[in-house]
Amino acid sequence: MSELRPKFIYFDLDDTLLDHKKAEQNGLKDIHSHFEEFNDISLDELKSTYHKINKGLWEEYGRGEIDRHILHRRRFEETFIELGINSSLYEEAGKVYMNYYRNHWEWIEGAKEAFDRIRSKYDVGIITNGFAETQWMKIKQFGFEEMVSQIVISEEVGVMKPHPKIFDYSTELVGLDRSDILYVGDSLTSDVQGGKAAGWKVAWYTSNPAKESEKLADLVFDDFETLIDWIKA
Ligand SMILES: [Mg+2]
Repeated sequence: MSELRPKFIYFDLDDTLLDHKKAEQNGLKDIHSHFEEFNDISLDELKSTYHKINKGLWEEYGRGEIDRHILHRRRFEETFIELGINSSLYEEAGKVYMNYYRNHWEWIEGAKEAFDRIRSKYDVGIITNGFAETQWMKIKQFGFEEMVSQIVISEEVGVMKPHPKIFDYSTELVGLDRSDILYVGDSLTSDVQGGKAAGWKVAWYTSNPAKESEKLADLVFDDFETLIDWIKA
């Protein structure tokens, strides 16, 4: 692993800088205790059913088959149907979930310190898959507008990572050679494969990379200190 001096560093947001998974888990826990219909259903069953359905819906959304309103409705409606619960409660469930999810965003451990140090030495930006409304709330809550020079949100570009268009657009924004851009993200498909296909350098934040995928990234790290050392920030 050789040292690298990128001219611009883009970061993924969810589960790279901010702990989306934890907020999601706690949002589901809130739903579980909010509805008495869940008395006989375990939290684990709710979580696994929700994750399975949500994953399928995100894939449909990624292919452009459904819009975000349909995704937001169906993720709880279908979870409730599968668990044998009155599916008309989906609307209330959506509100309970969003309320919790919005109020429990946190930095990933070590990410804030690393990000502050990196942005004091490098130009940085954010590229995130997600809904503009939600992602802008996060961006404002954490003050990212003052910390980065570029913010790219999939819903505003019209395609999600790993679609080449979002990487091409982000490359044009900074006006650099592709090999001078580093992308830091947690997703193998969206971030690592998408970034490499765009000709960027990629640092993959993961604690258990699949052996055959490890060599795709320029750096694999699970501790932000490793990233800092690698780019000499
Ligand atoms: Mg992510």
